Amino acid sequence: MNEADSQKLAAGLAKLGWDAAVTPEQADLAVVNTCVVRQKAEDRAAGYLGRLKKLKETREGSLQIAVMGCLVGPRTDELRSRFPYVDVWARPQSFEVVLRHILPEADLGGEFWPDTFPEPTGPTAFVPVVHGCNKFCTYCIVPYRRGRERSRTIEDIAREVESLCASGVQEVTLLGQTVEAYGKDLAPADDGRRADLGDLFAAIHETPGLQRIRFLTSYPRDMTERIIRSIGGLPKVCEHFNIPLQSGDDDVLAQMRRGYTIGEYVEWVQRIRDIVPSASMSTDLIVGFCGETEAQFENSLKVLDELRFDKVHVAAYSPRPGTIAWRHLEDTVPQAEKMRRLHAVEALQERIATELNAMFLDTEQEVLVEGAKEADDGETVYTGRNRANKLVHFRTGSALGTEVSIGDLVSVHISKTTPWSLQGELAGAAVTAQALSHAGP
Ligand code: SF4
Repeated sequence: MNEADSQKLAAGLAKLGWDAAVTPEQADLAVVNTCVVRQKAEDRAAGYLGRLKKLKETREGSLQIAVMGCLVGPRTDELRSRFPYVDVWARPQSFEVVLRHILPEADLGGEFWPDTFPEPTGPTAFVPVVHGCNKFCTYCIVPYRRGRERSRTIEDIAREVESLCASGVQEVTLLGQTVEAYGKDLAPADDGRRADLGDLFAAIHETPGLQRIRFLTSYPRDMTERIIRSIGGLPKVCEHFNIPLQSGDDDVLAQMRRGYTIGEYVEWVQRIRDIVPSASMSTDLIVGFCGETEAQFENSLKVLDELRFDKVHVAAYSPRPGTIAWRHLEDTVPQAEKMRRLHAVEALQERIATELNAMFLDTEQEVLVEGAKEADDGETVYTGRNRANKLVHFRTGSALGTEVSIGDLVSVHISKTTPWSLQGELAGAAVTAQALSHAGP
């Protein structure tokens, strides 16, 4: 979400005649777009601001510093006294606050923002479709910083996707904190029905140049059967789901106010696998949440073992000031124990991912080429992702000399797998999303 926000601000600055600087030393304006979802991210932003402060001192005031994003809440008094050298504070997506500070005379009204679309930096792009979140999980700062759910209209999103694809983008990832909430706040159509994520997929599916559509992040309760069926029925929509679990224990889930039980979660996963059998799945898990006992943690391991996700993003709980958990729950699990649990999840997941990825051996996978670099032996190794969102590294192999470019959609024969990636050789000419749709292992 922050990457998309940064690109949108960059597009606004470019429209007003500003060029991107290569290094902070050459910049007239440095914008630090911040994340505070975990303490580590907040510490990194603070550390980076410290470096900019030193740079500003050597530049005799010619460098302006703006801070945007989730570090900035409705009140900035404390931030202003902590970082007095910052010139402007802007909440997430408050692009105008930054632009008005540096160019007070600029005309930002009328058609400025509706027509200001990010410039892509490669064949893939993020497109925010619903901002904010209404869920208020007890550990999470997002609803306080990004506000309540607000969906963009289908027309607005479709124009942005068209603009991106006209500049070479092949794959878009539709973003929301809970992306299936898309449309719930939009006005109903004449038939009384509100547009949902399935309608959005259908509306952008035929965009010229677009090969793949992804979506992120899912919230189990908002994932309707209608949306799942639309994913199964539209070939360009990649059948990869990221559905945060957060804990495998009902009592911990209740403390987190996640709004579902483990039984319900398992049912949702099963429903997705029934409707889209080739679906790949990743999840997010927090270990060491307030009061989490060893037995409760073991329940998380059990669920991971049973559901066998392709990937698990695991984080040790860190209290976020201002959240419900920070106000009312005690952070009881020692840091060393949190890290032990985190490593236990990683070890389990390494075994599961090894087994799941091995099923891709000797298959051909559709890969969108996103990068290339020279290996030690002088040959080029290309990198991309398959439809299941697995990282794939490949060489041209027996087709040595074949021209492969960033943005090509190619077929790769998988000859080696690890828990973290698939490796192989170019198997043939570029293929289309339709030709290899829903090709699982
Ligand atoms: S659903 Fe996600 S973004 Fe929303 S409050 Fe819960 S964890 Fe935060």
